[in-house]
This record gives sequence, structure tokens and C-alpha cells, in this order.
Amino acid sequence: MEIDTLATRLTQGDRRALSRAITLVESTRSDHRAAAVKLLERVTDPDRQALRIGLSGTPGVGKSTFIEAFGLMLTGQGMRVAVLAVDPSSARSGGSILGDKTRMDRLSRDPAAFIRPSPSQTELGGVARRTREAIALCEAAGFDAVIVETVGVGQSETMVAQMTDLFVLLLAPGGGDELQGVKRGIMEIADLIVINKADGALKAQAQSTRADYAGALRLLRKRPGDPEGFPKALAVSASEGTGLDTAWDEMQALARFRRESGHWDRTRAAQNRHWFEEAVRLGLMRHLATDPQSREAMDRLGRDVADGHLPPGAAAEKMLNLLLSRD
Ligand code: GDP
Repeated sequence: MEIDTLATRLTQGDRRALSRAITLVESTRSDHRAAAVKLLERVTDPDRQALRIGLSGTPGVGKSTFIEAFGLMLTGQGMRVAVLAVDPSSARSGGSILGDKTRMDRLSRDPAAFIRPSPSQTELGGVARRTREAIALCEAAGFDAVIVETVGVGQSETMVAQMTDLFVLLLAPGGGDELQGVKRGIMEIADLIVINKADGALKAQAQSTRADYAGALRLLRKRPGDPEGFPKALAVSASEGTGLDTAWDEMQALARFRRESGHWDRTRAAQNRHWFEEAVRLGLMRHLATDPQSREAMDRLGRDVADGHLPPGAAAEKMLNLLLSRD
């Protein structure tokens, strides 16, 4: 399909066009890359903004159950909802935790929803780019909310937080041990900590876990640009659908506050700048690793450094002079 046609259909909200566009940005082939860049340039419209929600939680806490119920609630209110999965483990194992089972079956059949599992063969460095560009495409396709789901492993939360407007951490009911297990870093990026499974036999435990987290969150410094009371801890039951409306109200309240204070625009601007710089850095690294002349020079200078003929700093200067064609 011509890029122009794809761009037109995408901006009309066509989900098949969105799927094809995401496939295009996932590709590392250089002709695909050129087309993807052109497409993104064509469809980017700063006036079309979705609420980008990052959602993280370890396997089994109920992410798919939550997203399905939450997504259906939003589509029921007339919104269009996109769900993107980020699963860095799939890059290593070739199989995706988030993509291999039939998940969110009802939401996936909802014409107002779009669900995209994590691709199984992405190079690690490609996860961030793929996710960021897929978000941009969903936004261009007119989705009102884009939920970016990630498994609670490694660096993926920080990465997702750098490309979303709100970050939600989903947890299961549990005592103090659970609190210990959550890394401080993720507490600091979470805007909402949502304790799931507050139903049946687990209800009381979920409530006390919520209170524990609320207490821990009060000890964190209030972030600049946030209203009183945030970050917040809530208890919900994804399977019974209770508390989801409150969670949505809180997300909207925070988003509204940040929009009005200018924090929203400043954050998005800083995020764009960060990803631009990151892309340049990655491009340079790729060039170093793949360009024959650069590799040859790296090897040669590397040998000189290894056998003590050149100090590392001097060798680096020589390499940089070569790369940047300065003398
Ligand atoms: P994910 O791995 O984080 O996507 O978790 P799933 O959504 O697949 O849920 C894991 C298990 O927890 C499943 O057996 C769900 O039925 C169960 N579960 C999810 N949400 C709830 C809930 O709100 N209450 C209870 N009691 N169980 C839940």
C-alpha cells in the first residue's frame, strides 16, 4: 500500500491500517524504516493526543483481566481504546508472555478497541522505538486512550514511563513482604498503585495492602506538578469490576490537573527530546558496530590500546576525529 493511502486510512481510524503501520515500524529492514519514518512524519499531529497510560505488574496479578474490564468500561462510555504490550523477555526467548495466550478476548472483539501483542522477534534496543512509534500511530488513528502494558521486569517500566502520561502499578494483595519486594524505583514512577483482587476471601487483605502502600506513598516527596494526594493507592476487583470507575476518575483528575498546570506539555516535550537524543545515540552506536571502516578503526585502535601503545583517551580521540571527519 502506498504510504499516502496508509496515512489517510490510519488517520481515519481504520484498525487494519493501524495494524499494517505498526508492522512497518516494527521492521528493521532499511526500506521499511524509510517508509515508516515518512509515515510517522505524515501522520503526526500535535493536536491529536490520547491519554497514554503505562500499566505494569508481575505475571498473575491480573493485568489482562484489569485491562479487559477497564477497556470495556471506557469503550462503553464511547471512547476508543488501544492496548500495546511491551514484553522485553520476548526479545530474548523468542516467545511472548503477553502474546501467547488468548487474552482480553471480549475487548479484542470490541470494534472500539485495538489490541497489539508484543512482537516476538524484536532486538532489545528496538523495544523502545517500536513502542513509542506504535503509541504515536494509535494516537494518530484517533484513539482516546492508549494503554501500554508491561511485565514487571528489568528496565521496561522506566522506559514505558518515559513515553506515557500516567503510570499505574498493579499489585496483588499481600502483606509487608510484598511491600518490601516492590522496588523503590517503581514506587517513584507510579502515579497510581492499584491493588487488584479486592474480592471474596482476599478483600480484607487487599484493603490492608492498600493502606500499607498509601502509608508508604505518603513518605515519598510530592512530585512537582502533582496535586495533593498523589501518588495514590486504590483497591479494585478486576474480575468483579469494582473500583474501576474510581481508578478512571483518579486518572482523569490527575491528567486534568497536569494539563492545566502546564506539566503535561512540559513532560511530553521533555519526553520527545529524550527519545530524539536516544535515537541519535543508538544510530551512532549502530554505525560503529556495522560500518566496515569504523569497525576496522575500532579494532586497530583497540589493539593499540590493549598492547599499551596508545592510552585509551588518545585512542578515543583518534576514533572520534575519524568518525566526525575532523583533524
Ligand atoms: P496477568 O498475568 O497479570 O495478565 O493476570 P491475569 O489477568 O491473566 O490473571 C491472573 C489470574 O488472576 C487469573 O486466574 C485471573 O482469573 C485472576 N484474577 C484476575 N483479576 C482478579 C480479581 O480481580 N479477583 C480475583 N479473585 N482474581 C483475579
